[in-house]
Amino acid sequence: MYPPVNKLKALEELKNKILKDTSLPLRESNLVFGEGNPDAEVMFIGEAPGFYEDREGRPFVGLAGKLLDKLIEEVGWQRENVYITNIVKRRPPANRDPLPEEIKAYDPYLKAQIEVLNPKIIATLGRFSMNYFLPYAKISKDQGEIFWWQDKIVYPLYHPAAALRSTTVLEDLKKSFHKLPELIKESGNLLAAREAMSTENLPNREAPKDNQSKLF
Ligand code: URA
Repeated sequence: MYPPVNKLKALEELKNKILKDTSLPLRESNLVFGEGNPDAEVMFIGEAPGFYEDREGRPFVGLAGKLLDKLIEEVGWQRENVYITNIVKRRPPANRDPLPEEIKAYDPYLKAQIEVLNPKIIATLGRFSMNYFLPYAKISKDQGEIFWWQDKIVYPLYHPAAALRSTTVLEDLKKSFHKLPELIKESGNLLAAREAMSTENLPNREAPKDNQSKLF
C-alpha cells in the first residue's frame, strides 16, 4: 500500500498530540506540523515557521520557501515527494530565533516525526537545525558535508533565507543541494560501510562521544 496508511495515521496522531499539549511554548501561533510524502527519502528540516507559514499552517511557503521549491525542481524532484518540517513547530514572535527551551520543548515531537518517517537523509536548513543534530558543527565549514545521526545521514545546508541575502551563500547552497540525488543513490553503500566499520574495527575502542563522524 502506498503511502503506508500506518505512517499517515501515526503522523496524524502525532499532530493531534501536539495540538493537545498545553505545556508547549508559542501556543499563540498556529501549528505548522510539516508536510510531504511520508515515504520520502529526504526530510528537510528548517528552523521555525515565519509569518506566511503561520498564516497558512504550512512550512516554507514564503520567499525562502520559493527558493527551496526552485532548488527541489532543479534536481528533478517535486515538493510533494520530499518531506518538509521545522525543529520548532510554531512561529516565534516577530520571527526571532527560536530559544533553547523552545527547541527542547518540541524535541520529543520532532524525534517522533523522524522515527515515523524514517528518511535516509536529513537535510538541515540553517544553523539552528544543523546544531540540533550536530551541536559542534559550524555552518560555513560543514554545509555540504556528510555526517551521521543514529542510522541517518545528516546533510547540513545553508538556510534558503540566508541565500537570498548573499550570492556566495546562494552558490554554495546550490552546489551542495545539487549533490542530493547522488547522495541518495550512495546512501545504502555509505550506511553499509559505516556498519561494517563499527562492527569489525572498533571492538575495543570507545564509541565516539558525539554523533559527529564526518565522512569526507
Ligand atoms: N524558515 C524556516 O526555517 N522555516 C519555515 O518554515 C520558513 C522559513
